[in-house]
Amino acid sequence: MVVERLAERYPGDADELCALRHRNPFELLVATILSAQCTDERVNLVTPELFRRFPTAAELAAAQAAELEELIRPTGFFRTKSASLLGMARALVEEHGGEVPKELDALVRLPGVGRKTANVVLSVAFGKPGLPVDTHVGRVARRLGLSAEEDPDKVERDLCELLPPEEWGTLSLRLILLGREVCVARRPRCGECPLADICPSASVAAPPPARRGTTPRPGPRARAGRQR
Ligand code: SF4
Repeated sequence: MVVERLAERYPGDADELCALRHRNPFELLVATILSAQCTDERVNLVTPELFRRFPTAAELAAAQAAELEELIRPTGFFRTKSASLLGMARALVEEHGGEVPKELDALVRLPGVGRKTANVVLSVAFGKPGLPVDTHVGRVARRLGLSAEEDPDKVERDLCELLPPEEWGTLSLRLILLGREVCVARRPRCGECPLADICPSASVAAPPPARRGTTPRPGPRARAGRQR
């Protein structure tokens, strides 16, 4: 039921649902690395010029760190991200012929690439099974009672058990969209949520306004749903 409702609200395949602009797996990998601690909108402002200057792994691998840092500065943590991009691009050139690998094990061995980023690339760029778990996915999954775990790897495991592999990527992207638009961290908008009638956290996550002098106590679902 949750999956069907989310699909109704957010139709499309993984590539259509992904908010990071990209034209190929390399660009998606770069954009996903830049999206750490940054909005997709801000990443999308930076990447057109970045991809114009460095359209391939070989060209990015040969970039000057100072120029790269300046280009990606608006995304924050630009020195760390620059080092990740350079390391990733050099590893692509030296170990993968300049191409983005299509296997999780190979992706997570690239500098700056964790399991979440690897799963984004697998599911969106290659249409392969992959369920990225970011802070939105974890929070919304816990509020919906789909997982009780805090650890992203365990949330991923719980969600993967619910669906066939070909639906993992779209579920993740739809939970992200719901988490950004409706099931936001501080004050979830349960009144606007298409899942309110089946969500075990709905009444707890959106309590009626407190009477003066009373302090409502959040229930276990709401506590579990708080961001780390
Ligand atoms: S009903 Fe409320 S807590 Fe449940 S998923 Fe929707 S917004 Fe989140």
